[in-house]
Amino acid sequence: MSTPSTDPECLFCRIVAGEIPAEIVHEGERTVAFRDIAPQAPTHVLVVPRAHTPNAPATAEDDAAAFAEIALTARTVARAEGHEDFRIVFNCGAGVGQTVFHTHAHVLAGRPMGWPPG
Ligand code: AMP
Repeated sequence: MSTPSTDPECLFCRIVAGEIPAEIVHEGERTVAFRDIAPQAPTHVLVVPRAHTPNAPATAEDDAAAFAEIALTARTVARAEGHEDFRIVFNCGAGVGQTVFHTHAHVLAGRPMGWPPG
């Protein structure tokens, strides 16, 4: 694992650091989970690694334990809100809708979901 890094310009680094407010629902050794500001489902939580990495594969390369903690935290958060079934989405790249370039799992639950996603 490389040294955890932060980017002072990064929105999610600033949320992790407590510099920008967010409704934090879970904190782990390597991750922080907070509610999405524009929820797309009754449960819509973002799980982010504390270390700044641009996307999910980069986190997996940099710190596999952090990547595993993201998945486990997603389940913890969903269960805490009464959902055994949930969806995890990682947008990886601007071309598929990524707008914040700090790895984040969207954890979505609480409504029917179509497939394939749009
Ligand atoms: P993505 O489009 O996959 O990069 O997802 C970025 C997500 O961050 C979007 O769902 C936004 O609604 C969400 N978002 C942006 N700013 C904030 C914020 N300050 N607090 C919580 N969520 C945010």
